[in-house]
Amino acid sequence: MPTLLILPGDGIGPEVMAEVRKIIDWFGAKRGMAFDVSEDLVGGAAYDAHGTPLHDDTMAKAQEADAVLLGAVGGPTYDTLDFSVKPERGLLRLRKEMDLFANLRPAQCFDALADFSSLKKEVVAGLDIMIVRELTSGVYFGEPRGIVTEGNERVGINTQRYTEGEIARVARSAFELAKRRSNKVCSMEKANVMESGILWRDVVSEVHQAEYPEVELSHMYADAGAMQLTRWPKQFDVIVTDNLFGDLLSDLAAMLTGSLGMLPSASLGAPMETGRPKALYEPVHGSAPDIAGQGKANPIACILSFAMALRYSFDAGAEADRLESAVEQVLAGGLRTADLLGEDGATPVSTSEMGDAVVAALEASL
Ligand code: NAD
Repeated sequence: MPTLLILPGDGIGPEVMAEVRKIIDWFGAKRGMAFDVSEDLVGGAAYDAHGTPLHDDTMAKAQEADAVLLGAVGGPTYDTLDFSVKPERGLLRLRKEMDLFANLRPAQCFDALADFSSLKKEVVAGLDIMIVRELTSGVYFGEPRGIVTEGNERVGINTQRYTEGEIARVARSAFELAKRRSNKVCSMEKANVMESGILWRDVVSEVHQAEYPEVELSHMYADAGAMQLTRWPKQFDVIVTDNLFGDLLSDLAAMLTGSLGMLPSASLGAPMETGRPKALYEPVHGSAPDIAGQGKANPIACILSFAMALRYSFDAGAEADRLESAVEQVLAGGLRTADLLGEDGATPVSTSEMGDAVVAALEASL
């Protein structure tokens, strides 16, 4: 039985995760997809219980699980804690020790929410693209770094550094994903002005030629990519890029589609013995302390994160499609949590009403 470790975390984390639990139970009962689910603490909740934002036992469970699903961490009560035990350190430890080098951020626009985008409806309706960002290397980690004094002025230094191995492994993640989608990868760098960009382009091309010749590969300078993403995003399927460009491009792409409460993500590492990659799935949003405990949170980002787990960790693409269609239907039917309401004064549904509606739509899909 595949194992799933659930870490609800803080703030709205437990609220949105409770809705995902309903969906996991539904797949177990109605689709014969039983998971060995265990639940544990992370972030402020773990600090309160153990004095650390991630207990070693939880870390060990995460290393062994087929997938980890996380809610959110953080909150004002923990803001004054020492840096070493802040809730975010729990999340960073998970990412680092699981060596999750490929960050997947889909930008998917449900037709019913196309009006939410700042772009024209026809540009975003039906959009479904995936940005794969290298997460553990590049300019955020390269040495030397720091602020030094040269002569009578200060100099800020960061180093963009990529090894062939680091580029090759994230390229493989992107090609593997593309094979499960529309078989198309666009790699973005700045090979016109950066040596690391030249190497990036070469290595992605080499991996493509040697291992994935059947996938369509194109290259684009990252600045041109940003323009193309806002001009006509539907030209892309999978975009693979480095840590810095990916940070910017994934935020840009995500906001093409509207609310923070809708955005899932995944971070993948190297394949385990089972052939599955190490994987952490989580909504992009934080713990939203301003609405925590009020039943106002939109659970869809967390629900769609579970859909990603079905697709990328459990080889259940058809069931992921089923879940995404259920969400789409619920939205098309007009149901909205408060974050998705415009100015029309409609009454929002609660977190649990939204979760129940998705379960009802799943039931109707049978
Ligand atoms: P946030 O994402 O928690 O909230 C930003 C805004 O979006 C708030 O107004 C919030 O109410 C709203 N929002 C977020 N998710 C929503 C949802 N599912 N439904 C409806 N509305 C939603 O970001 P923030 O306010 O900058 O940070 C709050 C706390 O979360 C901080 O402690 C921060 O460090 C932490 N944080 C954690 C993560 C994570 O766990 N991955 C990510 C970002 C921030």
